[in-house]
Amino acid sequence: MRRCAWPRPVLLTLLLVALGAAAQAPRPITDLRPTVILISIDGFGHDYLEKYSAPNLHRLAASGVRAEALLPCFPTYTFPNHYTIVTGLYPAHHGIVSNEMYDPGFDATFIYKEPAAQEGRWWGGEPIWVTAEKQGQKTASLFWPGSAAPIEGMWPDHWEPFDAKMSPEERVHKILGWLDLPAPQRPTFLALYFDQVDHAGHDHGPDSPQVRDAVAAVDAAIGRLLGGLRQRGIEDRVNLIVVSDHGMAATSPKQVIFIDDYIDLRRVRVVTRGQFFTLWPAKSETDAVFAQLQKIPHVRAYRREKVPARWHYSGNARIAPIILLAEEGWGITDHEYAKSHELQPGGHGYDNSLPSMQAIFIAHGPAFKAGTKLPAFPNVDVYDLMAYLLHLKPAHNDGALEVFRPVLVREQTKRVGR
Ligand SMILES: [Zn+2]
Repeated sequence: MRRCAWPRPVLLTLLLVALGAAAQAPRPITDLRPTVILISIDGFGHDYLEKYSAPNLHRLAASGVRAEALLPCFPTYTFPNHYTIVTGLYPAHHGIVSNEMYDPGFDATFIYKEPAAQEGRWWGGEPIWVTAEKQGQKTASLFWPGSAAPIEGMWPDHWEPFDAKMSPEERVHKILGWLDLPAPQRPTFLALYFDQVDHAGHDHGPDSPQVRDAVAAVDAAIGRLLGGLRQRGIEDRVNLIVVSDHGMAATSPKQVIFIDDYIDLRRVRVVTRGQFFTLWPAKSETDAVFAQLQKIPHVRAYRREKVPARWHYSGNARIAPIILLAEEGWGITDHEYAKSHELQPGGHGYDNSLPSMQAIFIAHGPAFKAGTKLPAFPNVDVYDLMAYLLHLKPAHNDGALEVFRPVLVREQTKRVGR
């Protein structure tokens, strides 16, 4: 009898490793309904794909659809734009008109980082997860702005409060875990949010090695997601949409305007700070304050009644009476605030028509023609696309499906005329 060459403990170990691997291998998913995974990479400029190495995003774009740019709405901040992408509404219509805002009716202030921002009363319109829930589908969201709030009394079926410490890999693991649920609980819409590229852009500027590394880390996590979908046999059956909310501009600590050099800050209430800066003076003081603000170099002041029509930024009581907008590369602060907050080397919040503020759009999956391109289009259009991919009747919104007609596969385009 031939003796086995392996000593018994080694054989046992090999057997246990094999069993462990078998237990961990995900099961193929054979009963998938039309599914959309929406991924946001916060602060990912539309030129980052050329500037930095992101092989997985490039692969998705090459075998799917890439837009020249995704045009952010005004103001180019995180909360207004993320909520526009999932509602198809301009900020003035969904109510999240800035990251921080005052509502005269509530006599309350929304500050995106604070728990009160999760009160449903702030969030208007209908995000795609509510549209899907109402029409009998299951949904999941990992950190998409708005998904921690009850909107029309509803949350996604699966969601978690924001945890900045959760690594990109762990986030992907959660998404795959939700896909592994049995069909009755499995979400058809899943949202995934990455904040790492935005942080690196603010802290080190858009041209820094830190942004390069953050792009690589998020791209690797997306590679893990694609690998996980492949293991489950659904890599080409899920429609993936990758977006960002805005880009990132280089700023300089030498290019700072101190607003209290021009107005007495005791006469106004500052609600939003940054490159987009909002002021609420007492009504009787508005004209006088506005006149003073005309003199500031590298900053444009607007009365809310006279903002450019292309911003679609009017008709909401939360829009501040006076809006300041810095010239690209400049920042706005005041002497007291500047003691504890240095101007960062990267920023956004500038005019949404600037190339540096433009975002990305990549789509991939069975609904999309491979290797196709789209011109730049506004991010209000993404909601209608997702509703269409999920066979949902969309809620009223400001977007349109039309732009996508050339990149949808033939059997899908028949439904575009709806
Ligand atoms: Zn952002």
